[in-house]
Amino acid sequence: MTRRTLLGAAAAGAAAVATGWSADPPFTLPKLPYAYDALEPYIDAQTMQIHHDKHHQAYVDNLNKAVASEPSLAGMTVEQLLSKLDSLPAAVRTAVRNQGGGHANHSLFWLTLAPASQSGKPSGALAAALDKSFGGTDKFTDKLRASAASVFGSGWAWLSVDGSGNLVLDTAPNQDTPLTAGRKPVLGIDVWEHAYYLKYQNRRPEYLAAIVHVINWDFLSHRYDEFTR
Ligand code: MN
Repeated sequence: MTRRTLLGAAAAGAAAVATGWSADPPFTLPKLPYAYDALEPYIDAQTMQIHHDKHHQAYVDNLNKAVASEPSLAGMTVEQLLSKLDSLPAAVRTAVRNQGGGHANHSLFWLTLAPASQSGKPSGALAAALDKSFGGTDKFTDKLRASAASVFGSGWAWLSVDGSGNLVLDTAPNQDTPLTAGRKPVLGIDVWEHAYYLKYQNRRPEYLAAIVHVINWDFLSHRYDEFTR
């Protein structure tokens, strides 16, 4: 994929994210915005194919089943569902939390990655915010890796924006998302074993050292601008 095409895909993705990741149900699996092998050697093609085609598809299918079972959820975007989990009917709350979280989190995850040659650097307001909050991009990625390494079991490390516009770095178990806490997710690092086990087996820190080479900083800078302008 050319850089121009990739940036086009990222811009389209940013627009989709701004409006809630997905239109009305039934929810669908978004197309991966690059080839399965585009993140080699950091993330291997087989992992990308299974992660996207099988794991993400399963979240989509199971979310659709949950939403179909509860008519009051009709027409809600996945972002809306996750933002008001506590008010959802108890019968579907856990399914929406897990399967809806899985769909939203992975939809964002694919867009936040890019081939290493196109990874770029943070720019504009995001670069300034990373300097202010973490002492620079390198210190931020060090802290991101440490946070992600500290997740016990399955979960994510998250960079999000709170209601005051501040960056927050934290972790969440399973498929929980900052959306449920009223924050806007900028970047999530998936540390479920399915994200790295084929290539890295038990060596999660090696996966984390690798994935920071394929972060799509152009996309993240644009996304942060949308959240804070
Ligand atoms: Mn995953």
